[in-house]
Amino acid sequence: MNVALYMLRLDQIHPQVSGNKWYKLRYNLSCAKAQGYKRVLSFGGAYSNHLHALAWAGREAGIETVGIVRGEPEYASNPTLTDARQWGMQLQFVSRKKYRCRADEDYLKQLLIKYPDAYIVPEGGSNALAVKGFEDIFELPCWQNVPAPDLLVSACGTGGTLAGLIAAKPASLEVLGIPVLKGAEFLYRDIAALLDSAHVDPVEGWSLDLDGHEGGYAKITPALHDFIAYFEKITKIELDPVYTGKMMFRLHKLIELGKFAPGRSIVAVHTGGLQGRRGFL
Ligand SMILES: *Cc1c(COP(=O)(O)O)cnc(C)c1O
Repeated sequence: MNVALYMLRLDQIHPQVSGNKWYKLRYNLSCAKAQGYKRVLSFGGAYSNHLHALAWAGREAGIETVGIVRGEPEYASNPTLTDARQWGMQLQFVSRKKYRCRADEDYLKQLLIKYPDAYIVPEGGSNALAVKGFEDIFELPCWQNVPAPDLLVSACGTGGTLAGLIAAKPASLEVLGIPVLKGAEFLYRDIAALLDSAHVDPVEGWSLDLDGHEGGYAKITPALHDFIAYFEKITKIELDPVYTGKMMFRLHKLIELGKFAPGRSIVAVHTGGLQGRRGFL
């Protein structure tokens, strides 16, 4: 149990575009603008941190945004999508069935007819430019407060963030991803493909712990709920139930189980997502 634990507070980098989504979007937006696109279009659920961040960042960058949202138009008045609309994002609601086509070429072609001149960012913002967005993350001044970090832990959804961390990491640092989806073995392949698309040579020293999902995406067990409350009480740090809460719950368990050798210096990444808490807690 004798390990040192730090938290990289990406939730504090920006009041609206908090956490990992800022890193994932920065080069996508600058690239879309530089190439003269009129708008950026992307996909997400009704509480999507990604669409929320994109709406704000698009407004800041002076480029229109379109959000293709999984679910009923009633969601338009939830806190996440209210913010997004206020920041100028145009929303289109689609059925779950249609949403499943979000990466199909034919469907993307249809969307481009409806929204001409759109730069399409995949769900969660994960692409080669997202990976590149993390390139300077280890240069943040706060790293000076962490003596010899040797393990970095982050929640994983689509794996873009983990790929970015893997691409940027010093060789001495190991990276552990905790997927929040059930049955996330596919992420080994997806992350390798993202690294490849960003022209990163194969990197050693990363892995996934597939047992932290608590039943599946956005599933919140009573134990997870209690852990988030307990963690906030003792650390005064808020976690969201979909990503950072699951990561810390699992990491806490792994530490209790003695999975890490004494003396290890572990840095958990707070990837933000607190705006999404409004839909859950
Ligand atoms: C989107 C998100 C993640 C997952 O990021 P991926 O790059 O999709 O793996 C993790 N944490 C938070 C808070 C997020 O919003």
